[in-house]
This record gives sequence, structure tokens and C-alpha cells, in this order.
Amino acid sequence: MKGICILGATGSIGVSTLDVVARHPDQYRVIALTANGNIDALYEQCVTHHPEYAVVATESKAEEFKQRIAASTVADIKVLAGAEALTQVATLENVDAVMAAIVGAAGLLPTLAAAKAGKTVLLANKEALVMSGQIFMQAVSDSGAVLLPIDSEHNAIFQCMPSGYTPGHTAKQARRILLTASGGPFRKSPLETLADMTPDQAVAHPKWDMGRKISVDSATMMNKGLELIEACLLFNMDPDQIQVVIHPQSIIHSMVDYVDGSVLAQMGNPDMRTPIAHAMAWPERFDSGVTPLDIFEVGHMDFERPDLQRFPCLRLAYEAIKAGGIMPTVLNAANEIAVEAFLNEDVKFTDIAIIIERSMAQFKPDNADSLELVLQADRQARAVAKTVIGRLAA
Ligand code: NAD
Ligand code: MG
Repeated sequence: MKGICILGATGSIGVSTLDVVARHPDQYRVIALTANGNIDALYEQCVTHHPEYAVVATESKAEEFKQRIAASTVADIKVLAGAEALTQVATLENVDAVMAAIVGAAGLLPTLAAAKAGKTVLLANKEALVMSGQIFMQAVSDSGAVLLPIDSEHNAIFQCMPSGYTPGHTAKQARRILLTASGGPFRKSPLETLADMTPDQAVAHPKWDMGRKISVDSATMMNKGLELIEACLLFNMDPDQIQVVIHPQSIIHSMVDYVDGSVLAQMGNPDMRTPIAHAMAWPERFDSGVTPLDIFEVGHMDFERPDLQRFPCLRLAYEAIKAGGIMPTVLNAANEIAVEAFLNEDVKFTDIAIIIERSMAQFKPDNADSLELVLQADRQARAVAKTVIGRLAA
């Protein structure tokens, strides 16, 4: 029986994780659930899954939540509040596995703490890895933590790696990764219409049902840019060894090209419960609840080269990883600010890439050898991006 802590339990990945957990009560016990401010959803999850701990990251919402738990049938749940409590529950003695499913940089500290504590880290929170790069990978290797990718593409690549493969190492016989992308909702939209796309249009993803931030990232293809950096780190490869491939059906979740000419692909219906169940059962497998793939219904599959004119965010991600140092941190921070501004309807869809590019231009690829330097670059890039937005509006 393994104990699991789910960081970001109320989000899209968190909900899918609890669905898989509920199918395997003999193998997983929920030790802790965390949420930012959605206390209604967290309350329901607490009643159903009865964790030992529940964390409300937004302190102003915690008191009301405490009172509701105290008056419930699960009054013995310990309720904690604030960002530091996330780290506390991610490192509890009886937690074996931590699902890192907070969105954005807010997930970095608890996820890094789980890695340092030698937990099995189920990594969905790609922004945490992108912003901290080698520091995160070093923490995993120093502590002996087991790092298992949840992002569907990286989970697919991991499944296509040679047996016994450990993330962080280069698989010698693998010469290339083919990182697949759906192309998002605007793959075919006329270029001149992109500036007027609304948040609702951007989050209406054709294949995946996800949180709002990652949905916008999919529409700009920054999601693939972040995943490119994620793949370089997880599989210790050069950016030039990673080819992004648009595959609109989202049936192949990525491929590994070997020196003997074999190309291995992992396929399945686009449902995050597959990579989640794969990582939770690893190195075994268990049921995920995902509908079996009907290959006849799929019929055929298409592959296209990405258009960097249409998707400048992908180009910026290649530039950031090639420049190295703090540049991936800057890219990620500027993107988080730009996407938030777009979702608040303060800037246009096409401004997202402009904000990131202008923000990156203010930084040099200084070293990112310590967590302090990373956090400083993150803070500075957020401030710069806000200034850039202010100038756009003026
Ligand atoms: P979501 O917006 O649906 O959920 C985010 C979760 O994080 C929620 O539980 C929220 O309460 C919590 N959270 C948000 N801000 C927080 C803060 N400041 N402090 C503490 N908790 C906070 O997002 P999602 O779609 O589930 O994505 C989660 C992560 O997984 C992201 O990093 C995303 O890139 C990655 N991911 C998601 C998918 C997917 O299909 N949804 C696929 C691959 C990777
Ligand atoms: Mg993905």
C-alpha cells in the first residue's frame, strides 16, 4: 500500500489522478490533498477520499474550510493553510508518491522538496522543471528520488525508452525524439484572425480537456516549447535532437528514433488517466478506466511540420533552451504573466509572444546554478513582463 499526496488535487490532473486512485484502493491511500482556493471542490474530495491532511494554499479561504471540515463526517482531517504547508505535506513520512499537479511556478518549492526528500515524483507541473532545470534534476539524482513523467508526451517517450532506463540519462542508442503536438485550436485559423481570438476560443482545445493556463499554452504552442525544454532535461538530449511534429489526431503521444532505424511510438486515446496510471503502477501496469483505442475509427494519422511564423512561442522556447542559464526561467515567468493578462482580457492573443520576446530581450543568459538565482530571475522576469504589458496598453 502506497501513500499519495496530490498537489493541485482540484485541477484537471488532480481530478484524473483521484479517479485512478479510486480504482485501486488496495494499492493507494490518499494522505494529502491540496488546492489553491476552490474549497467547494476540495471539500467534496475530502469527504470522498478521506485524506489525513488537506491544504488550502490561499490563507483567506482556509478558515471557512476548517469550519466546514470540523462540522463534517470527516472532522479528523488535519487542515493546513498557506504555501509552506504544501511543502510540509509533500514531504510527510508516510507519503511515498507525490503527484505534482499545481499549475505554474507556484508548484516549484513543494515539488522540489518532494524530490529532495527522495519521494516518487509524478511530474505533471512542467513549469517547475523548466524554471529550475539542472537544480531539479540534480536534487532527484542526489536523493535517489524516482522521477516519472506525467505529461503525456514525456510519459510516452519514457515508455519508448530501453528497459531499465532512468530519466536524467541519455539513452545512447536513441538518436532523436519526435515530440508530437495537436497544433491546438488555431492550427488552421487565418493568421490575420489570431489577434482577435478570445480567451474562450483559446481554451476550447480540440483534443484535450485541461486547465485554462495550459489550454492557452496549447493555442500558442508555448506548451510544446515548455515540453521541448522539459524533454531536454528529462532525457538529457540536445534541443536539436528533438523534432516537434504536429499530429492533429493526438493518438501517437510521441516517438523515439533509434540508431537502427526503429521508431517506437506510444499510442492511445487522448486521456490523461493513461500516463497517470502508467506512472502510478510503474513498473507494473493497472487499469486506468480509459476507453480502449479503436484503431479502425482512427482510420489514418497526419503529421505536419510546425509553422514558426504562426507559433512564435515555439521559436522563443528553442532560443531560451539554446541560450541556457536563466533564460528558460525568464521564458516561463514572462509566459505566465502574459497568459494571465490574456485571460483577463488585458492583452490580445498575439501579444503573448510579443510580451515574452520583449521580456527575454532584457535578460542575459546568466547562470542559474542556485535556487536563489532561479527565484530571483523568476521575480525579475515577472516584473519586466508587467512593464512590457503596461507599455503595450499605453
Ligand atoms: P488546473 O488549472 O486545472 O489545476 C491547477 C491546480 O493547481 C488546482 O488544483 C489549483 O487549486 C492549484 N493551484 C493553482 N495555483 C496555485 C497556487 N498558487 N498555489 C497552490 N495551488 C495552486 O491545471 P491542470 O490542467 O490540472 O494542470 C496542472 C499541471 O499539469 C500544469 O503544470 C500543466 O502544465 C500540467 N499538465 C496538465 C495536463 C492536462 O491535461 N491538464 C497535461 C499535461 C501536463
Ligand atoms: Mg503534454
